[in-house]
Amino acid sequence: MIDGKGRSIDYLRISLTDRCNLRCVYCMPEDGVCQIEHSRILDFEEILRLVHIMALLDVKHIRLTGGEPMARRGCLDLAARIHAVPGIESISMTSNGILLKDKVHQAKLSGISSLNISLDALDPAVYSRLTRGGDVSQALAALRQALEEGMKVKINTVPVRGFNEGDLARIAQLARDEALCVRFIELMPIGSGSQAGRIPYAEAAALLEEAFGKPEADTGTYGHGPARYVKYPGFKGAVGFISALSHEFCASCNRIRLTADGQLKLCLNHTKGLDLRGMLRQGAEDEEILDAVRRAIAQKPERHAFYEAISDHEERAMNAIGG
Ligand code: SAM
Ligand code: SF4
Repeated sequence: MIDGKGRSIDYLRISLTDRCNLRCVYCMPEDGVCQIEHSRILDFEEILRLVHIMALLDVKHIRLTGGEPMARRGCLDLAARIHAVPGIESISMTSNGILLKDKVHQAKLSGISSLNISLDALDPAVYSRLTRGGDVSQALAALRQALEEGMKVKINTVPVRGFNEGDLARIAQLARDEALCVRFIELMPIGSGSQAGRIPYAEAAALLEEAFGKPEADTGTYGHGPARYVKYPGFKGAVGFISALSHEFCASCNRIRLTADGQLKLCLNHTKGLDLRGMLRQGAEDEEILDAVRRAIAQKPERHAFYEAISDHEERAMNAIGG
């Protein structure tokens, strides 16, 4: 549907869990976080009911995220059921890849057509330090399997000062050798991200230009997101930049989010939303929920306002929102 600012909202990110098998320094505290009680997490029937309702409002694209979506038991069965919902045209997943290893074929069979794999370093020691214990060889195995399965693959990399500066060009190089996208996501000051060192877009772009030469703008369509793509000389794939702070993209935002505990979020950096779990569990009819979602989307904030002193800044950690 069209929101109050004339934007077409057709993309829903569903966070299946706030739990994760990693502890990336910019996302989760080292000792984990206070996890959402199981009873407060939407069950699969509740999620499916909401997807049916969203599809009636012209949501066409679904992304499963988390925490780590593969850490939720039955995640791929749910994907298959979402894929079968009339009106849903695509289903994708964002994962750190570790638990996806050896399950990529099953993911493809469930209808997932594209995978975003988060990979912040190639150097095993840097990866382990940044994720606090992750084994990069497992994430790379999942990446290889996804390419062998012919899935659309994007790599998500967050440049973090003091961690992966030395790995950024090596990661971008994956798009030289394979027809995939590597996207550099500018660190956002949400949750643990507020304490990590942001490397601004311009600095990351300069580093890549030094390594690969001047890129050309790439106007290809690589999904439904806010990345701006470029192509470096001799590259098979594209390199994208998602820079919420350096280049705000709110004017073309097409997305809403459903948190694992059933809150509809209208903007990554605003608490303003809708308690869908409450409505579901208080016995609301579909029509009533549809109407409430329609009214909420009409109120979607104009912009994220990371720099402004507003009262409803998001205070939840990224693993609870889904990125
Ligand atoms: N666990 C999965 C993963 O890492 O791909 C999915 C959830 S994770 C929250 C989704 C995306 O958000 C990841 O690509 C991650 O790098 C990104 N992310 C997490 N915290 C962030 C932050 N503070 N700023 C920018 N991106 C962040
Ligand atoms: Fe887990 Fe993803 Fe957050 Fe890393 S970015 S801690 S993998 S949820």
